[in-house]
Amino acid sequence: MKLLYCRTCGDIVKLLRESRPCACGLSTGAYVNDRDVAVSGPAWVMGIPNMDMAIALQRMTVLDIDAGGTHVYGPNLTAFFLYPHHHTIQRT
Ligand SMILES: [Zn+2]
Repeated sequence: MKLLYCRTCGDIVKLLRESRPCACGLSTGAYVNDRDVAVSGPAWVMGIPNMDMAIALQRMTVLDIDAGGTHVYGPNLTAFFLYPHHHTIQRT
């Protein structure tokens, strides 16, 4: 899963096939295929490994069922930034 991070307003937007803007409107981005994204404006691209997300969601489901338990925090989920000129990023 790739996300757009706007360096102006700090908004984080999940990238989809349709172009989506950040909260301030200066950054936009979209997937152009299953791997590559196109972004514009003062944006950086972030990623969350799909398998990590699936595991975290599964753990959250278990925690949600166990709502009366003693858990304080849910599972960790690590995101990463892609280098600005990563080969999967097109700047428009
Ligand atoms: Zn913005």
